[in-house]
Amino acid sequence: MDNLMEKLVSLCKQRGFIFPSSEIYGGIGGFWDFGPLGVRLTRNLKNLWWQEMVLKNDNIYPLDSTVIHNPKVWEASGHTVSFTDPLQECKSCHKRFRVDHLKGDKCPECQGKLTEVKQFNLMFKTFIGPTEETASKAYLRPETCQGIFTNFAGVVDSMRPKLPFGIAQIGKAFRNEITTGNFIFRDREMEQMEMEYFVDPKEDEKYFEDWKEKRMKWYLNVLKLNKNNLRFFDHPKESLAHYSKRTVDIEFKFPFGWGELEGVANRTDYDLKTHSKHSGKDLSLTNDKGEKVYPYVIEPSVGVERLTLAVLVDSYKKDKDREILAFDPKVAPFKAAVFPLLSNKQELVKKARSVYDDLRKDYEVNWDDRGNIGKRYYAQDQIGTPFCLTIDFDSLKKDDLTVRDRDTTKQERVSISNLKKYLKTKLEE
Ligand code: ATP
Repeated sequence: MDNLMEKLVSLCKQRGFIFPSSEIYGGIGGFWDFGPLGVRLTRNLKNLWWQEMVLKNDNIYPLDSTVIHNPKVWEASGHTVSFTDPLQECKSCHKRFRVDHLKGDKCPECQGKLTEVKQFNLMFKTFIGPTEETASKAYLRPETCQGIFTNFAGVVDSMRPKLPFGIAQIGKAFRNEITTGNFIFRDREMEQMEMEYFVDPKEDEKYFEDWKEKRMKWYLNVLKLNKNNLRFFDHPKESLAHYSKRTVDIEFKFPFGWGELEGVANRTDYDLKTHSKHSGKDLSLTNDKGEKVYPYVIEPSVGVERLTLAVLVDSYKKDKDREILAFDPKVAPFKAAVFPLLSNKQELVKKARSVYDDLRKDYEVNWDDRGNIGKRYYAQDQIGTPFCLTIDFDSLKKDDLTVRDRDTTKQERVSISNLKKYLKTKLEE
């Protein structure tokens, strides 16, 4: 199965989905850049999440907070003390490992002896202003949700929501992970899509179940991921984070094994209470019975990179020498590609161009006039384009074209006047 990861890494680079960051300087571990195709893919995924959270629910408010917060935020949240991983260093080669990733008590790289276990804080540090003093020390956020808690009062005062309501945010987060790897599964810079749903404390369990189910349905019914690749994992009490009453992960079957794709956590009133205490600003609310409460928080949280990897793994297929990314059309970087049968016949190119320019007004469409038609089909299969549209000599007479389906490879003729309607139906099937 590791072979699949190798194939994906190579396909993603070759076709412009994902490049190692700063590659011309030898790269930098745990950082990846999205290329022209990758940006389209991740933008589609982010838009689908946004639609599901913000556009579908008029009680979920969007937010965009900064990456750097007042460092007191991280003291209050507990991150300065406890956002740590246990680490051991090899005394010979000096490589560092996360203890829970080690299989034995010898260095997995050189079999050297390991040091005692140390706690390593995963937050990236920086300095604000011209002096590098302790007083100016700040952190890049390791999760986006603290910005939601610190803006809670602002959203409540301006929007006047009633419980239950949510605040959603997509943004960069940084973790100085000890060991990275598995392509974009574990990165040091990533993007999180997080939603904090504030509920009456008496209703936390009901809403927890609700979001857990809704999130699984999103993967199955909207992204159309294979149900055999998804499962819930209920964290046992002893492995819960300090703020959590219950956490269920939605796990995905990656080629290297099952791994967390999304976490759904019941964060209780921990965050609002701790920020009330540390900041002096009371973040309680009055519920519909007139009682003062600190709302409980149900949090579904997923990383864009991990989701992208799951979608790539789920869609990758090999059919003899044909490599296919069988993306759902909603996710596919391009919905269709337009070709003139021959690139040296001006009348074909002109007609194909006019179809392409017209479709571009409504869809993300690709143009290709290189090589022969068979090669173009293969190239589009490899980037997951659901439909290829070819203008040939008959098209000049009949004002139609050939539509070739990525998954069935079947072809049919469709009149150009009917093309948009045809595509709309097919893409929404
Ligand atoms: P893990 O146990 O894999 O380290 P976590 O439990 O620390 O993950 P959370 O803090 O719950 O992760 O973060 C929420 C989501 O953010 C995860 O489900 C994952 O999709 C994503 N995420 C977290 N850390 C990383 C990372 N280093 N690289 C890529 N995505 C990440």
